[in-house]
Amino acid sequence: MKVVLKDLVKRFANAERAAVNSINLVIEKGELAVLLGPSGCGKTTTLRMIAGLEQPDSGCISIAERDVTDLAPKDRRLAMVFQNFSMYPTMNVYDNIAFPLHAIKMKRGEIDRTVREVARLVNIDHLLERSVRQVSGGEAQRVALARAMVRRPEVFLMDEPLSNLDAKLRVQLRTEIKRLHQDTGTTFIFVTHDQEEAMTLGDKIIVMNNGDIQQVGSPHEVFFAPRNAFVANFVGTPSMNMLEGAVLADDGGGYRLQLPGFELSLPVRFHDGLANLAGNRVIWGIRPEAIKLASAPAGNGVSGKVELVEALGSRDLIFARAAERLFGLIVDAQESLAVGAPCHLHFPGEQMHLFDAESERSLLNDLPPSDAPLCPPASRGAESPSGWGEALQKG
Ligand code: ATP
Repeated sequence: MKVVLKDLVKRFANAERAAVNSINLVIEKGELAVLLGPSGCGKTTTLRMIAGLEQPDSGCISIAERDVTDLAPKDRRLAMVFQNFSMYPTMNVYDNIAFPLHAIKMKRGEIDRTVREVARLVNIDHLLERSVRQVSGGEAQRVALARAMVRRPEVFLMDEPLSNLDAKLRVQLRTEIKRLHQDTGTTFIFVTHDQEEAMTLGDKIIVMNNGDIQQVGSPHEVFFAPRNAFVANFVGTPSMNMLEGAVLADDGGGYRLQLPGFELSLPVRFHDGLANLAGNRVIWGIRPEAIKLASAPAGNGVSGKVELVEALGSRDLIFARAAERLFGLIVDAQESLAVGAPCHLHFPGEQMHLFDAESERSLLNDLPPSDAPLCPPASRGAESPSGWGEALQKG
């Protein structure tokens, strides 16, 4: 079912700022939407308001075109799975899954059919007779999923359901949740602070910070076309290389960027966004995967020396020092250079990012359309909207 949040605000008593700051969001029927952002950005509060476990101060929530803002959780036709879930320890797996169906007085035969069908979907049909005390963490999380699913919710809410599991199990259950979503066609809303989890799971990623939505888009959009410096820095591991610099107009009608210790010419794709910006401060960025490594100067870039190499398997993560800055880059292992080797970092123009230093908004005009408006930082008070400052090596 389609879920719509309109001007949703939640401010907890004595809090300095709103936990959720007037957000607007549309999650289409059958979508797997992921709320992604750092700890404390308002993801759980948003999810709890959708569930009806938290009352908004203002704004409204609709599910399937029905205003549910004032409805009790049980009347919203949704189910929720949390990071810490509880089970009835004296019951076996079957009875734990069947419990919500007894509560709604479903007939015994139908309960049996439903429990077995859902258990099959989450791969625990062989565990139905086992006590829940004797299942592993991953199996227990599947029981929790099954128990939430038996009532056939129209919207499935999940709050970091995988964070207590070990790394391998997380990856496995992530795939199963994705498959479950495809098999059921139900709308899923998933909360995580883990951007890799968000990227692998989501059809739609909603990046949040400080109670605001920073960007809504596909995993590719938030990675390749970040709308502001916060999204650019938060999405991607290792983080985007970012430097503050000044835009200079050159005689030929083009633009150059003066960065600490070196200059770059800016590609034509930025020119429209830079009109009237000559002399202004901007934030330049490039992803570690986008930098080309050469042993001699080649094209737009800077020369330096390899300082550290970490093997990632088929690729290497290299830290190179150039113009007294440390750049992170990822290259194919065959193209890697040894520690201490002189190197040239080439920055392809089509992979560069540029953000206004004050508003932190992208200066690119060819970004794909986003279905959510950006929150104008200026209207949110003096606080920096992103907090990316730590990663930025100021010029
Ligand atoms: P995490 O990933 O750590 O769970 P989150 O993004 O889900 O974080 P929320 O739990 O929604 O963030 O919290 C948003 C803000 O609201 C935080 O500053 C938090 O301290 C505050 N907050 C959350 N619940 C309450 C509460 N019951 N009372 C007071 N403040 C709260």
